[in-house]
Amino acid sequence: MSGDVDPPQDTRLGEFELIERFFSRVPRPDRPDVLLGVGDDAALISVPPNTDLVAAVDTLVAGRHFPHDCAPRSIGHRALAVNLSDIAAMGATPAWATLALTLPSAAAAWLEGFAAGLMELADAHGVSLVGGDTTAGPLTISVQILGHVAAGTALRRSGARAGDWLAVTGTLGDSGAALALATGRLATQDVAAAAAVMQRFDYPSPRVQFGAAARGLASAAMDVSDGLVGDLPKLAAASGLAAEVDVDCLPLSAALQTLVPLQQARQWALAAGDDYELLLAVPPQHWLALCDAARRLDLNLTRIGELCPGNGVRWTKSGAAFAAPAHGYDHFH
Ligand code: ADP
Ligand code: MG
Repeated sequence: MSGDVDPPQDTRLGEFELIERFFSRVPRPDRPDVLLGVGDDAALISVPPNTDLVAAVDTLVAGRHFPHDCAPRSIGHRALAVNLSDIAAMGATPAWATLALTLPSAAAAWLEGFAAGLMELADAHGVSLVGGDTTAGPLTISVQILGHVAAGTALRRSGARAGDWLAVTGTLGDSGAALALATGRLATQDVAAAAAVMQRFDYPSPRVQFGAAARGLASAAMDVSDGLVGDLPKLAAASGLAAEVDVDCLPLSAALQTLVPLQQARQWALAAGDDYELLLAVPPQHWLALCDAARRLDLNLTRIGELCPGNGVRWTKSGAAFAAPAHGYDHFH
């Protein structure tokens, strides 16, 4: 046993009751790959033949990754969404997850919302929760996700070539506006626009299907979790190339543009993070096919620049150098 949560009282549950009630599922006949799920000492998984196993883990800490009073359903959704986004960036198919939950108390109402948010997204992406750990302490959620991809075909950050185009999915900067609204740095009368950016922040849509569709078309990919200024240099460096981006091309949502002047919207698109879109390097000859894939999924795909020999990132606006924010989100900065 890994640790006890508060003793059962009124709405409080014991550790095993809690796991049983919220995180155990009857074995699903449509998931023969899960030989053994929640309930034994470890899960047993049958990995499809001729695939590479893809693994990622992400931790959300209360007060750091989300406000303490954040809706539990949103926390459950985000905890899985950030991991799905990493799987999407590899072009892989998510399949199994484990959940390490550290809770100050085992309040049933909170767990109800949290489990609903996590399980809804898991079901939407065919992810089976196969195990975890539950312990008492400051609210912290770690999800480990496992997926698979046809052997040798995963999208890496390092595969780009000089001349490849740079593209991003969806829109950037909405989460920056949401965070400004949530922390009182931005106020608005536009209820619809505010709701639209809050929805993006609270319930991000990981681009899993598009990531898989980009395999064989994109030469490199990563997800944008720390803002373009934080993430693009990583892809460029991994590929041993320089990147050039025209900031006029950055895709901004209508809601974001209603809420703030263009200059602020652009700053958030560059540096705010938490967007969970995909950044891709695309050989020009594959561009139209990738656009078709995006259209089939009703997803925006925007060309923002290209990769060239050299190193570093050059930001431009109307052909001239543009002074981008110095860095994206960094926990230790
Ligand atoms: P152990 O003591 O062997 O680590 P636990 O008593 O912690 O096992 O957990 C019992 C079972 O419940 C295990 O199968 C474990 O994977 C699962 N489990 C524990 N916590 C969670 C959770 N938060 N979500 C999903 N499964 C969980
Ligand atoms: Mg055990």
